[in-house]
Amino acid sequence: MDQKVYPVCVIGGGSAGTMAVLRTILNNDECLFFPGSPKDKKRSRDLWVRKIENIPGHFQYKRGIQEPNLETMKWILQSDFKDNLHTQKNTGVVSVEKQGDIFKIIDSNNQTHFAEYIVLCTGVMDVQPEIKGTIETVFDYANAQTIDYCLICDGHHVLNKKASVIGHGNGAAWSAIMLHERYHPKDFHILTNGKKADFSPDTQKLINLYGIKVNEALIIDIFGQDKGRILEGFILEDGTTIETDICFVSMGMLIYNDIARELGAELDERGFVKGDEAGLTSVPGLYVAGDLKANTKKQIYTAWDTAVNSANAINLKIRSKKRQQLLK
Ligand SMILES: Cc1cc2nc3c(=O)[nH]c(=O)nc-3n(C[C@H](O)[C@H](O)[C@H](O)COP(=O)(O)OP(=O)(O)OC[C@H]3O[C@@H](n4cnc5c(N)ncnc54)[C@H](O)[C@@H]3O)c2cc1C
Repeated sequence: MDQKVYPVCVIGGGSAGTMAVLRTILNNDECLFFPGSPKDKKRSRDLWVRKIENIPGHFQYKRGIQEPNLETMKWILQSDFKDNLHTQKNTGVVSVEKQGDIFKIIDSNNQTHFAEYIVLCTGVMDVQPEIKGTIETVFDYANAQTIDYCLICDGHHVLNKKASVIGHGNGAAWSAIMLHERYHPKDFHILTNGKKADFSPDTQKLINLYGIKVNEALIIDIFGQDKGRILEGFILEDGTTIETDICFVSMGMLIYNDIARELGAELDERGFVKGDEAGLTSVPGLYVAGDLKANTKKQIYTAWDTAVNSANAINLKIRSKKRQQLLK
């Protein structure tokens, strides 16, 4: 093969991808890095994350994933390890094929690359509610974090507030139950936005016990002030006005598993990619880290941890192979 075969390729430039790159280059392995095309970046969770309050030392960032990630890339490029990093700027991966022990990678500029190991970190995205026929009605509020998505990250926002959850499945009901049990928000609604509530009998019992009100009418408008910094409530098709200060969306996730599926990696029933402790999937050489990995907390520190596990497991394989060759 004429073209260079990189030992490691990291696909995705969010929390997991950035940590996978950092650990790989610090392990002194060369790393081909695809942070994603503008289209990939737009649909990633790292773009949506603003202030982070559940990780020590992150309070000062206005964009809690993007700013520290940029600082990290800057540091790498000034460090003694800079030659290990081969970033394909503003570029994503559209297709990967396994050729023997090597991955053939086609990027969004139609260029071909080769790598021995891949750490796949393409993440997931939260499903957004449609209000007035579009998901864009919620964007200002999501940016101001008066509409939230992640209970572990932002659940505490409902303390002493009027709160609501948008969603119609058991997941939405359990989000409301957890928020009630932890923070006792003042006035609490589940809005199914025109769908039939689909809660199990046990869940429904708790919803009733906690006095959480469920309304199945379509949401026809959202209102607030100061470009979403203040959320005031929703207007429903049945004429009801729901006053709310903080709303959680719990409608499931879009899982960016296309590359894993193309390679035939095993997925769980929801579409997350299965990996062992090191993130090794059912495809030899393919590792998964971050939100995309099955059975992980969808959190930044989990993304970091899974990425470190993958980079270190790959480094072990690279060192073992070199050692075996020396011992021959
Ligand atoms: C609104 C919100 C607030 C949150 N707040 C917190 C918080 O306070 N604390 C916390 O711990 N967690 C928080 N989270 C969760 C956190 O964002 C995720 O756990 C974390 O971003 C996961 O990292 P990841 O790298 O797996 O995915 P992402 O950060 O989503 O990154 C995925 C990356 O893959 C890239 N990509 C996608 N497809 C391709 C492709 N084909 N080729 C190349 N690149 C591709 C994207 O461009 C992106 O860079 C929050 C999530 C949301 C939605």
